[in-house]
Amino acid sequence: MAPLRVVASFSILADMVREVGGDDIHLDVLVGPMRDAHTFEPSPRDARALGDAQVLVLNGLGFEAWMPRLLDAAGFKGQTIIASRGVEPRHLSEAEAAQAEAEAADHAHGESDEHDHAHAHAHEAGAVDPHAWQDLGNGVQYVQNIAQGLAQADPAHESAYFARADAYVRQLRKADAQWRRQLAAVPQNRRILATSHDAFGYFGAAYDIRILSLVGVSSEAEPSARAMADLLKQIRTQHVSAIFLEHGGNSPALKQLAAEAGVTLGGSLYADTLGQPGQQASTYLGMFRWNMQQLLAAFTAPARPE
Ligand code: ZN
Repeated sequence: MAPLRVVASFSILADMVREVGGDDIHLDVLVGPMRDAHTFEPSPRDARALGDAQVLVLNGLGFEAWMPRLLDAAGFKGQTIIASRGVEPRHLSEAEAAQAEAEAADHAHGESDEHDHAHAHAHEAGAVDPHAWQDLGNGVQYVQNIAQGLAQADPAHESAYFARADAYVRQLRKADAQWRRQLAAVPQNRRILATSHDAFGYFGAAYDIRILSLVGVSSEAEPSARAMADLLKQIRTQHVSAIFLEHGGNSPALKQLAAEAGVTLGGSLYADTLGQPGQQASTYLGMFRWNMQQLLAAFTAPARPE
């Protein structure tokens, strides 16, 4: 029997689908490793892959703002699995919503009204924060939704999908417990994650880490002297010990900010994408391991003298 043809919207989801689907599926991914799902522009090739697919796996929560257009172009008639179904949604901070909107406006420049509209909608102030996978507890929910959806689309392999999902969920729960244990040993006032892309709201809530969003320091825009002064003040008053970059993002402004504040530039974290196959953070669990190790190293480094 030919394997079930499945398309996943982005790399993190694709890794979960691969774990559950095993050899019973043929998997394509739209936004591959180290590509930005927020500003993705589907190609005719993507439309063809989707047109041939029997199952589409989406994050949902407004993450794939480009999907409605692609679905139209592809004439997709298969089954859709919303991986985040049942997850308790969080909302974007005002600051991130404003930044996302500015980026979307920039990005959509010169394209159709319909496109502008779709983008603007996905980033409205108070919009749902889509980054739910940054909590391993939600990851468990994702995996269960994926297993149910695959079993429904391909009942002949139902028991295999559920067996793989169960084994994988056990790994996710074990990792979740391990990171909680290690973080609990860090004094609470040192558990601060300062970064520019506000993708860690679920993460912070799940693992009791305060998130300081250095929003306004986007990858392209040069922040004003005023904005830099405000951020410096926040970093000092909140006793931030390290600033983290987002992997794949390049932010000279963040580096400058860290230098001026006299704080460590922590490692790069993975937010919306996995690393390339065979490299660090090339799986969902590997991404967690990498991010947690970067954070724990910064949290437990000796405090810098004032
Ligand atoms: Zn994001």
